[in-house]
Amino acid sequence: MSYLNNQFDIIVVGAGHAGCEAAIACAKLGAKVLLCTLNVDNIALQPCNPAVGGPAKSTLVREVDALGGVMGEVTDATYLQLKILNSSKGPAVRALRAQSDKAEYTRYMRNLIENNENIYLKQCCITELKAENDVITGAVDEFGNEYSARAIVLTTGTSLEGRIFVGLRSYSAGRLGEQAAIGLSDSLHKLGIQTKKLKTGTPARVDKRTIDYSKMTVQPGDEELSFFSFKPDRPIRKTYPCYLTRTTEETHEIIRANLDKSPMYQGLIHGVGPRYCPSIEDKIVRFASNPSHHIFIEPEGLGTYETYIQGFSTSLPADVQVKMIRSLPGLEKAHIIKPAYAVEYDYVPAVQTTHSLMSKKVKGLFFGGQINGTSGYEEAAAQGLIAGINAFNYINNSEMLELSRSSSYTGTLIDDLVTKDIQDPYRMLTSRSEYRLLLRQDNADERLMPIGHKIGLIDDEQYERFLNKQRLIKEEKERLENVKISPDENTNAILAKYEEHIDRGIRASELLKRPNITYKTIQELDNNTKELNIPKDVYEQIEVIIKYDGYIKRQEEQVENAGKLEKFKIPEDIDYSKIEHISSETKEKLAKIQPKTLAQAARIGGVKPADISILMVMLDRNSVSRK
Ligand SMILES: Cc1cc2nc3c(=O)[nH]c(=O)nc-3n(C[C@H](O)[C@H](O)[C@H](O)COP(=O)(O)OP(=O)(O)OC[C@H]3O[C@@H](n4cnc5c(N)ncnc54)[C@H](O)[C@@H]3O)c2cc1C
Repeated sequence: MSYLNNQFDIIVVGAGHAGCEAAIACAKLGAKVLLCTLNVDNIALQPCNPAVGGPAKSTLVREVDALGGVMGEVTDATYLQLKILNSSKGPAVRALRAQSDKAEYTRYMRNLIENNENIYLKQCCITELKAENDVITGAVDEFGNEYSARAIVLTTGTSLEGRIFVGLRSYSAGRLGEQAAIGLSDSLHKLGIQTKKLKTGTPARVDKRTIDYSKMTVQPGDEELSFFSFKPDRPIRKTYPCYLTRTTEETHEIIRANLDKSPMYQGLIHGVGPRYCPSIEDKIVRFASNPSHHIFIEPEGLGTYETYIQGFSTSLPADVQVKMIRSLPGLEKAHIIKPAYAVEYDYVPAVQTTHSLMSKKVKGLFFGGQINGTSGYEEAAAQGLIAGINAFNYINNSEMLELSRSSSYTGTLIDDLVTKDIQDPYRMLTSRSEYRLLLRQDNADERLMPIGHKIGLIDDEQYERFLNKQRLIKEEKERLENVKISPDENTNAILAKYEEHIDRGIRASELLKRPNITYKTIQELDNNTKELNIPKDVYEQIEVIIKYDGYIKRQEEQVENAGKLEKFKIPEDIDYSKIEHISSETKEKLAKIQPKTLAQAARIGGVKPADISILMVMLDRNSVSRK
């Protein structure tokens, strides 16, 4: 007997980071979801580094959490180490990073899925999509089973027509030990959807018992822990260190001597690899004058000896990998459990989707995660969540959730994907946002939790907690404006510790603007502030708001100005080929991407400002041809 006679509201294809968010969101909202995956033991697998967060990515995790997604909760429940990166730098680049216990992460996510009564989990390979008149109706698996649904979310990661390379040998696979998804790309082509190729790679995993850590530098986590999820109360876990070693001249020589065995350098792989996560051979060729590169040694979990060699991804042959690894200090006797490999796979350029992540061609077909040309778990989770929410909105004829660039990194990521024809795996970076001082990890709840609550993914109890926090931030900020710090001996003795001094009375809020002063200093100086015992997440946000007040106001003005172009809507049926005086390159790009606003049109790579001015005048005069 089959579940629900194989009739579902929504089918989610793929139980990776995007698929899990999509399925859980749809199910929480009340839809009956079929969640298909190639291997149910690999749910939310971390096939590359066993870590979540880091610059810009931590903000994505917090945004997912604020909207009602689960990545933050799962990471907080399964960490081996937590660390705030860039803690001495500005708030826009400060980032939380967790080392994960990979197996526990998978187990925790699987529990969330199996304990949700609206999710029907199934191990199968979806090979065909069914649509009538460009409207999705269902899918078929490799055994010929047919499933019907009104919406489908595709989150296939690196599996579509995946091909693994280790040296000059290659075989069909999506990830090491997992089959490739064959057939689905052809089905997409038949529906008029184009696919292209990208490539990514991962380092070897080494047996911990064969590593000499005494030759490496210890990289401990934080003692005072910070977490991803805005939900309170979680078990505190024991933490473990990572280690740092480096490449040697011998490593570089081995790599240079074996480049003729690299599938990349021999032209066997055509897909472009991640620019911001290059293979070690790429680093050594591109940065030839650099005598050494950092390599981090990271645990994969408490139940395994497998250890991740971060920064050492390669597609060179297995025998060469042994020599390369053994040239690293501390790894002279290393035993490789799993080899490094590269994988080439099909993705669906996201210029074919709208900001809701629904296909422009086939209604009811959504895409999220690596299939859209991104790389990274956090990028995948953010898109999966939006694609899932919108699949639910679509089947309920509700308004689509389209986040603006100024609201979030999630909005920025999706806008970049659907607007710019990206050529290499897209990774979120703080530099991709023009509003990065507004889009911080500390205020993701302020920016997005009201939306999560309105959608129905944030319950009333959590929302009430959020409102209280916002109230407390406002009240404490105002109170600090009225706390006077006097220039007595005791005060200046405390301030001297922070290389500061005052000659006259000063408001606590003014003092807090000084670079060396933190809220904790104010607590030291003023007993009332200390006794209030304001929670860390509240006072940290107050610190940022006060210290960066001027910059934040400037970015808010920028958002307002950009809003003018953002409000300038472009009708859907414009015939760009008939517009005179704009370059043919611009015409082609506008016709392909079909921007919704003038602001989006201006962001398309290669579109000239002069062309935008002409378009603006024509739209204003209503003199553009319609199809
Ligand atoms: C070798 C390798 C190296 C990587 N290197 C990096 C890196 O350097 N930096 C980085 O940030 N990220 C890297 N990643 C990427 C990271 O793993 C992904 O970005 C992230 O997991 C994508 O999440 P996703 O949900 O889109 O897809 P995945 O997590 O890959 O999940 C895809 C899911 O879809 C399922 N599936 C696929 N096709 C079908 C089908 N037809 N029917 C049913 N189920 C299907 C799979 O079984 C799987 O459950 C790497 C991944 C791999 C495999």
